[in-house]
Amino acid sequence: MSHERVFVGLGANLGDAAATVNAALEALDALPGTRVLARSSLYRTAPVEAQGPDFVNAVAELRTALDPEALLRSLQAVEAQHHRQRPYPNAPRTLDLDLLLFGERAIATPALTVPHPRLHRRAFVLEPLLELDPALGHPALGPLAAWRSGTADQPIERLG
Ligand code: AMP
Repeated sequence: MSHERVFVGLGANLGDAAATVNAALEALDALPGTRVLARSSLYRTAPVEAQGPDFVNAVAELRTALDPEALLRSLQAVEAQHHRQRPYPNAPRTLDLDLLLFGERAIATPALTVPHPRLHRRAFVLEPLLELDPALGHPALGPLAAWRSGTADQPIERLG
């Protein structure tokens, strides 16, 4: 199994969003060759480039034997299990899973961009990532804590 640190972002804003995120965390832990090592708190955030009710977000740290492309396909299968539909771009979604970081790897294929290109600009990703590891680094951008001030205008509430 890889010893690279893998981080996945979870978000939901339809139905019982907190329950959906918790169920998705269990689904990630059940993926082949994959364990959830740590999970952040749940956070409530206003939609960014999306519509509908507030989101519930979290980040999970995984250890996985899957390669990045196989992990992405597995994330999409978990999304589909939660009846994700895409009626129009940025529509409300019952579950959104993003591959944020896969060790130090930089991947740019038609299907997959890692590190996730917007992770350092979104409070709903940065805050839970930094909860899991305040010293976490980005392969190209350096310490992620330095990007926090740039997201200060994005309301985010840590749920109990
Ligand atoms: P969305 O509809 O917002 O869930 O976007 C999903 C699309 O983004 C899929 O076509 C993926 O192939 C693509 N994608 C590219 N990079 C990533 C990534 N790091 N994590 C998740 N999806 C990605």
